Amino acid sequence: MAASEFPTGTLMKGKRGLVMGVANKNSIAWGIAQQLHAQGAELAFSYQDEALEKRVRPLVESLGDEPFMVTADVTNDDSMDACFAALKDKWGQLDFLVHAIAFAGKDELVGSFTHNTTRLGFQRAMDISAYSFVDTARRASEMMPSKEDGGGAMVSLTYLGSERVVPNYNVMGVAKAALEASTRYIARDLGPQGIRVNAISAGPMRTLAMAGISGGRTLMKTGRDWSMLKEDTTIEGVAGSALYLLSDLGQSCTGEVLHVDAGFHAVAVPDIEE
Ligand code: NAP
Repeated sequence: MAASEFPTGTLMKGKRGLVMGVANKNSIAWGIAQQLHAQGAELAFSYQDEALEKRVRPLVESLGDEPFMVTADVTNDDSMDACFAALKDKWGQLDFLVHAIAFAGKDELVGSFTHNTTRLGFQRAMDISAYSFVDTARRASEMMPSKEDGGGAMVSLTYLGSERVVPNYNVMGVAKAALEASTRYIARDLGPQGIRVNAISAGPMRTLAMAGISGGRTLMKTGRDWSMLKEDTTIEGVAGSALYLLSDLGQSCTGEVLHVDAGFHAVAVPDIEE
C-alpha cells in the first residue's frame, strides 16, 4: 500500500470523535485521523499550545472539512475543562476518542532508569502519559451515548517497553504499564455504558516522540530485524487497527492491548544462522 493511501468507506459515517496528539504529518495520531476520515468520521483535533496550532492547522485543513480544533494541555485542568466545553457546545455528543499523547524528559530517556529517574520526572511522565488518559476518558465518557444508543469507543497508544525492559525507554516504560493497566480498569467501569476501551501497542516508528528516545535508530533496526514480518511497523497498519477498534467492527473487544508491531512482541530469540 502506498504511504498515504487509506482505504475509503463508511465504517465511521455518523460518528464524531476527538483526536489528541497530532504534532506533525509523521504523528501516529495523524495517520489514524486520516484513516478515520477516509471512513467518514467527523473529527475534532486538540493541540497543546498556540505554536502547535500553527503546525497542525494546515494538516487538518487538508482533510477538506471545516477545521474543528481546540486547545488541550492535558496537565492543566482549566485547559481540559475548556476543551470539553467547546466539544459539548459544538457537538453535544462524542462517539470516540483517540489518545496519542506521551512525554518524558530527555534526561530520563537515557542510561540507567534507577539512577536517572527524578521524582519530578516520574510524576511528569505519569501525569502526561498515563493519568491524562484517565482524565480524558472520564470527560469523554460523559459525552458518549448510552449503550442502547450505540455507546462509544476509545483507543490509546502504548509500546512494548511496558512489558519488557527496553534500553533508554526507562520511565516511559513504567508510564506505559500504568496506561495499559488504566485501560483495563476504565474498560471495566465504562463497559456497562457500551463504551469499549483498548490500547494499541505499536512497534517503533519515526515520529517526534521517537526522536526523543536515545538509540531510537537501533530500536527501529532491531524491531525490523527481529520481527516476524521482517519489516517496519507501518502507520497504515496502526491506523487500520485503530479503525477496527473504534468502529463497530471492534464490537465485543474491550480491555485489550493489541500489538501492532510486525510480530516483534512474540519473538524471544532472533534468527539463528548456523
Ligand atoms: P508525536 O507525533 O510526537 O506525538 C506525541 C504528542 O503528544 C504530541 O502531539 C505532543 O504535543 C503531545 N503532548 C505531549 N505533552 C502534551 C501535553 N501536556 N498536552 C497535550 N499534548 C501533549 O509522537 P507519536 O510517536 O505519534 O506519539 C503518539 C503516541 O504513540 C504516544 O503515546 C507514544 O508514546 C505512542 N507510541 C509511539 C511509538 C513510536 O515509535 N513512535 C510506538 C508506540 C507508541 P507536543 O509536540 O506539543 O509536545
